[in-house]
Amino acid sequence: MIALFPGSFDPVTLGHLDILKRGAQLFDQVIVAVLNNPAKSPLFTVQERIDLLRESAADIPGIQFESYSGLLADFARKREIHYILRGVRSEADFAYEMPMAQANKQLTDELETIIMVTNHAYAYMSAGLIREIAAAGYASIFESGFDDKVLDQWVTPTVKNMLKNKFM
Ligand code: ADP
Repeated sequence: MIALFPGSFDPVTLGHLDILKRGAQLFDQVIVAVLNNPAKSPLFTVQERIDLLRESAADIPGIQFESYSGLLADFARKREIHYILRGVRSEADFAYEMPMAQANKQLTDELETIIMVTNHAYAYMSAGLIREIAAAGYASIFESGFDDKVLDQWVTPTVKNMLKNKFM
């Protein structure tokens, strides 16, 4: 069985990697599908996001990386993939995922969305929050100083270095 794990991954976090690791144990293959949506004005380009994923997930067997644009259901149908893997952190995530899963099912009947509950250690964390902290921290907006060790609990060293390069 093959699953798609779609998202922005801007950048990949330890929360994403936890879902990916657990997903890779459930499925024979997981294809990480990086959304190419310039309207979202991402921090990292699609290629950078894929490179960061590839390096950060080097120890997880059975995964591949691709980018897609447009409707996920369309991408899944073209590739003949029947499972979408999503991670949820909270009721808010669940409320966001439900209509997407329902719509995808309407678009392609054989498409199943598998929702995996986050590891509690990562339940409060989002890529957006990490971007904000890194942007402010590396630009020395924190009056009390910024020790970037704080980022280690949320991202891999590779991602941390890329954040540093972007903002310093
Ligand atoms: P999107 O913009 O599509 O929500 P993200 O890159 O933010 O994409 O996330 C991709 C997937 O990973 C989504 O299913 C999201 O809910 C999930 N996810 C994000 N952060 C975490 C986390 N800390 N723990 C578990 N799942 C997460």
